[in-house]
Amino acid sequence: MLSIVVPCYNEEESLPFFLKAVEQRSREITHSIEYIFVNDGSTDATLTVLKEFHHQLPKKVRFISFSRNFGKEAALYAGLQAAKGDLVTVMDADLQDPPELLPKMIQMIENSDIDCVGTRRSDRQGEPPVRSFFARLFYKVINKYGDTEMIDGARDFRLMTRQMVDAILDVTEYNRFSKGIFSWVGFKTEYLSYENRERVAGETTWSFWSLFKYSIDGLINFSDAPLTIASFVGAFSCVGAGIALIFIVLRALIFGDPTSGWPSLVSVILFVGGLQLLCLGIIGKYIGKIFLETKNRPIYIIKETEKDLLDKKL
Ligand code: UDP
Ligand code: MG
Repeated sequence: MLSIVVPCYNEEESLPFFLKAVEQRSREITHSIEYIFVNDGSTDATLTVLKEFHHQLPKKVRFISFSRNFGKEAALYAGLQAAKGDLVTVMDADLQDPPELLPKMIQMIENSDIDCVGTRRSDRQGEPPVRSFFARLFYKVINKYGDTEMIDGARDFRLMTRQMVDAILDVTEYNRFSKGIFSWVGFKTEYLSYENRERVAGETTWSFWSLFKYSIDGLINFSDAPLTIASFVGAFSCVGAGIALIFIVLRALIFGDPTSGWPSLVSVILFVGGLQLLCLGIIGKYIGKIFLETKNRPIYIIKETEKDLLDKKL
């Protein structure tokens, strides 16, 4: 069986297009298919649409509805947990992940020993240039300083074997950064490229600021390089300050103490003070993550699923 996991947040407009497009393609697929839609606390009629889907295709369509918006990462995790298929794929509801790739992806996985077929955008067309620039910068930094390789332009859209899904489910951390987790668990992955597409309907929920925060999360969750950099910067300024101190004391002893040098003194104090705050901030970020992680809260809370509908009917 093939499980299709779809996180949905305010997707009432795109969902009908999505189901239609995938159903059309499913004729080329010999596997039986189950859909797992995860309603991530949408404020529009997404849940109603999902219930409607379930009525149309009761055997095929399952849904999970959260008690509030927990974010795409949580929705993905819930969907993967619920998936029963031997092959599992993760798709966005907005048709930015082309379903016509699915038959080929299945073929690739079944005819070779790879465990995962990922997809990547071959270009960043239709994206603001500033965003592309920062996206590229992020991948450069994370691949240089992080412990996990991340592929530029790789989407979350991927087809995985049961073995790999189970490995991902074993990663139970609260601060989830899927792009990193997919690559951290290992297994053989091959990438298919396709041209970037616009969403069919609705609007993206990612602003520049939310993407920026997301990338900082990615850096911190998969790398302790910022901590190392902070310690290096601290050590360097310490050594520099020590040398300067010796120089100043010697100069005062030899040439006397003219009361000049206030501006430079103040700038040095400000500079070092700033460095300390920066390093404290970096450390604080990590402590914040540890704090959230040790609270051990559930990653998501379910309000209802398609099983509740059945119970109501009985
Ligand atoms: N999504 C979600 N929870 C959120 C935000 C987004 O489940 O808090 C879903 C959304 O419904 C879509 C997918 O994640 O299916 C990708 O979101 P979007 O298209 O807004 O992101 P983009 O494609 O612009 O990266
Ligand atoms: Mg999208």
